[in-house]
Amino acid sequence: MKRTILLIEDNEQNLYLATFLLENNGFEVVPARSGPEGIELAGRIQPDLIILDIQLPGMDGYAVARALRQNASLTRVPIVAVTSYAMVGDRERTLEAGCNGYIEKPINPETFKSQIEKHLKARPAGGGTQP
Ligand code: MN
Repeated sequence: MKRTILLIEDNEQNLYLATFLLENNGFEVVPARSGPEGIELAGRIQPDLIILDIQLPGMDGYAVARALRQNASLTRVPIVAVTSYAMVGDRERTLEAGCNGYIEKPINPETFKSQIEKHLKARPAGGGTQP
């Protein structure tokens, strides 16, 4: 069974590149272009992993991560933050908001897959609601 990744990203170029890389590696990708859309989709599709852009218009990625973590059906779903902020403390902020990891923009096609796989391996296969 294909593993599903929910990709919350407002930038079309980043969305295109990440989708291309993930689909080439056998993942099914569901895009969301805003935080509220991502939160709604996450509860509905129960993805195996969520990739979350931190710089989103309106509701930012930190707020989205906190909202995702308030959904009991998503507590086991890894969230990987993506941000172009290179400031010290940003990593801690994403982790405090409920993310499991952090990828810096621009996305590096050489390492992207292994960065995602690392977080999938940390949990058993299957949907977010499985024991
Ligand atoms: Mn963005």
